[in-house]
Amino acid sequence: MSDHRVVVIGAGIGGLVTALQLAHQGLAVTVVDAAPAPGGKLRQLVVDGAAIDSGPTVFTMRWVFDQILASVGTTLEAELSIRPLDILARHWWDDGSTFDLHADPTRSFDAVARLAGLAEAQRFRAFCAEAKTVYRTLEPHYICGPAPSMLGLGRALGVQGVSTLAKLGPLSSLWSTLGRHFHDPRLRQLFGRYATYTGSSPWQAPATLMLIAQVELDGVWSIEGGMHALARRLEGLAIARGARFLYNTACEQINAQNGRATGVRLANGERLSADAVVFNGDVAALRHGLLGSGARRAVRPKPQPRSLSAITWSMRVPTAGLALDRHNLFFQRDYASEFRDIFQRGQLPLAPTVYLCAQDRGAGNEPTGPERLLCLVNAPAAGDLDTLTEKAIEQCETTSFNLMRRCGLAIALGASATATRTTPVDFHRLFPATGGALYGQASHGWMSAFKRSGANTPLAGLFLAGGSVHPGPGVPMAALSGQLAAAAVMASLASTKRSPAAATSGGTSTPSATTAPTA
Ligand SMILES: Cc1cc2nc3c(=O)[nH]c(=O)nc-3n(C[C@H](O)[C@H](O)[C@H](O)COP(=O)(O)OP(=O)(O)OC[C@H]3O[C@@H](n4cnc5c(N)ncnc54)[C@H](O)[C@@H]3O)c2cc1C
Repeated sequence: MSDHRVVVIGAGIGGLVTALQLAHQGLAVTVVDAAPAPGGKLRQLVVDGAAIDSGPTVFTMRWVFDQILASVGTTLEAELSIRPLDILARHWWDDGSTFDLHADPTRSFDAVARLAGLAEAQRFRAFCAEAKTVYRTLEPHYICGPAPSMLGLGRALGVQGVSTLAKLGPLSSLWSTLGRHFHDPRLRQLFGRYATYTGSSPWQAPATLMLIAQVELDGVWSIEGGMHALARRLEGLAIARGARFLYNTACEQINAQNGRATGVRLANGERLSADAVVFNGDVAALRHGLLGSGARRAVRPKPQPRSLSAITWSMRVPTAGLALDRHNLFFQRDYASEFRDIFQRGQLPLAPTVYLCAQDRGAGNEPTGPERLLCLVNAPAAGDLDTLTEKAIEQCETTSFNLMRRCGLAIALGASATATRTTPVDFHRLFPATGGALYGQASHGWMSAFKRSGANTPLAGLFLAGGSVHPGPGVPMAALSGQLAAAAVMASLASTKRSPAAATSGGTSTPSATTAPTA
């Protein structure tokens, strides 16, 4: 084992990947997390004796985990039981219409033709082709690479890549671009919803976010034991390589001396010294000074608009009336009002879209009795304000469950069954300084792609990983950020070794060109 010590603050997916890869390279890694278990947002709640995934449920971009596990000498199949889903999501509208998006593009084409006619199916095919081109353009240079500057990205994309993105109209919103593709408002709504995967409004998100459609069309998988099992497995692999995990252990301060992070102070008063510190919480916590004044200076001072929060209900109940699939969406007619309420008025949506994950379904499974459900509606990240009253939350709950009922779904949430509710206030408590924002900053405007911090920070020895930094939120993206942070730590330690003066001078770190994200 190397004599380099690394402290990772946070066992979210980004922190777990960093810890695993650094432990695999022989570093002495300690992970501290205020929560009682690994996973961060990949958390499970036990309701009526059943463990329910109460964070992310849609597992995409499995190649990210194929690569990460290959880098530590194993495979996804060896570590977890995962299955591809034939139906990516089932959609319901309160006018009685329903639509399945399939993994098989021909079946999706036929489903669009049945819903909205052959001409719309052809437009759907053209949309998929464009989403694929945008994705293939941005994957190598933006998604997989270190945080780029605008100029750097332009250079990396080359003339062809830049012209692909320019054709979208750099100032176009996702919503307006979808209007060019779809005549049927339901399909525009369905694909516009992908902006919410980054916690953003389709009206303010750039058109490039259409690449999320491609991410999902590339495949959605279910993991036996739930998404939380992924976090547990990464933790297990890191422990097997010598990493140490301290739970129920909040970090109060990142210590800095002579312009360099030197370790951390825990809430219990213990101090851990380190050659590198990786922060996996939301960067807003650093900006708010929650980890001390040295770390505050390591992030961009200007706050960006917060992303979406949510209200979730985790429950184990019988359902009737609709043939649910694993991932279900219930839409209202006035889609714009949801984002006006949240982003302009800062209030809970009066007409929310409802996402329902039926966790015992999919891949042919049909529960017979009570089933495990996670229900989610978008909410403003106002968990640190007094604006989300109990009355408003109850009204939102009633509207959401009424929408599902109007679409035909009976959820027997009665005296014998209970739901555990999580609100923006709870998310703010779990993820400090966020107001409950679940995806870091909102991806509003085309410049937002360049406003996320990278893995390196201006404070030498302090690195960032997680959904609030480049390349952005979502389980695979946060995992990629963890990988970038591990690479940045290794590069920094290697350069410090070569030039001991850099370790003590208090100057900025000097990472290698291949692994040096610009903040
Ligand atoms: C309800 C919900 C649904 C979602 N749905 C999806 C989905 O379907 N698909 C998808 O891909 N993504 C989804 N996401 C987003 C995805 O879960 C996140 O982007 C991703 O998990 C973030 O990982 P992270 O590395 O940023 O760490 P986080 O999950 O944010 O964890 C950070 C950890 O750091 C710890 N921490 C912070 N500060 C300190 C401190 N000072 N001391 C000690 N510990 C600290 C916290 O306790 C936490 O455990 C969803 C998120 C939520 C909440």
